[in-house]
Amino acid sequence: MGVLPSPELVERFRAVTDAIVADIGTLVGCESPSADPAAVTRSADVVAEVGTAVLGAAPIRVERDGCAHLVWRLGNAATRVLLLGHHDTVWPLGTLERHPSTTHDGVLRGPGCFDMKAGLVMAFHAVAALPERDGVTILVTGDEEVGSPTSRGLIEDEARGARAVLVLEAAADDGALKTERKGVSLYTVRVHGRAAHAGLAPQDGANATVELAHQVLAITELADPVAGTTVTPTLLAAGTTTNTVPALGEVRVDVRVPSAAEQQRVDAAIRGLPARTPGTTVVVDGGPNRVPLEAGVSTALFDRAARLADALGSPPLRRVAVGGASDGNITAALGVPTLDGLGAAGGGAHADDEHVLVAELAPRTALLSALVADLLADPPTNPHTDPPTDPSAEPGVTGVPSAPTSATARTRGPRP
Ligand SMILES: [Zn+2]
Repeated sequence: MGVLPSPELVERFRAVTDAIVADIGTLVGCESPSADPAAVTRSADVVAEVGTAVLGAAPIRVERDGCAHLVWRLGNAATRVLLLGHHDTVWPLGTLERHPSTTHDGVLRGPGCFDMKAGLVMAFHAVAALPERDGVTILVTGDEEVGSPTSRGLIEDEARGARAVLVLEAAADDGALKTERKGVSLYTVRVHGRAAHAGLAPQDGANATVELAHQVLAITELADPVAGTTVTPTLLAAGTTTNTVPALGEVRVDVRVPSAAEQQRVDAAIRGLPARTPGTTVVVDGGPNRVPLEAGVSTALFDRAARLADALGSPPLRRVAVGGASDGNITAALGVPTLDGLGAAGGGAHADDEHVLVAELAPRTALLSALVADLLADPPTNPHTDPPTDPSAEPGVTGVPSAPTSATARTRGPRP
């Protein structure tokens, strides 16, 4: 572990808060709904431009199935610390007309500012302030809001071998970090029956709608409110005409679980539900989509962050468990220590009152910078992925980020 930072680091970022706010405004000004590849590509250009200006290094562009992702691999070492964020948003094109990007009375607004363009800008400035950034990788994906279909492999590749993944998703209420996230499983339960005329020979049919009703009630029973597991039948469809015994029906099911054990319990149970209606069969498709981020992969990182926040003179750092999943669930599933919610403080994710608290940008960016520095200062744990540290280096010196000193390295980093 490195030398503890001091409150002076927060002041350094306060001095560049205007630049951070301006950069967030630039990113928010380029709309990037996940479903619009052209918009996401334009946004990637803007993110690359801002990141390059702050970091003094250009990203690698990775296009997968038309979706634009960006990777900054800084220094020559293998990735030791991965900073993970996304530049797509849930907001359709044209939202800026209703909700322009503004900053008034210390509150920054605009579509995607809180979730999570502010987090990207914080990452750029936090890393730009590091005196040593060998082994730091910043990955910015373009499809997180739709479940990361094209970026999942990229995230896994970058995270594997890292000693920590820091996720720049927005903070929970009151700036709390997210140390647990529920896992998600999605199912389609399909019932096959036998069609027959509902008036002439209903007894010859096997009614998929009736069996589906049994299935829906049985599936609902798999929830465990005490454990925090929800099992929610959502979309439902069956049959063809009003006078035909339905031969086919299906229901979709959304499952949220606090632990891998619960995810496995529900998975086994949903696949094992018997058909109660003679002549019908049940086929279950789907399964776990995101594994839960459990406290075990985040606790040590949170404790480290709490100690650093204390040294920075910030109020005690808080942690919460949340229901929504993020790309942190993907890296946690690899067993890589993962800490989420390190981005902006504010509120209103996916809602009209989405906003970022400007006063919190400096202390949170300082915390992020100090955390990366502290992780880099750790001795190598894996000789195959970590380069040896220079034994002649003064112990701990690399542990404290300083204001950028190289004017050639960047044009918009924090200044002392
Ligand atoms: Zn997000």
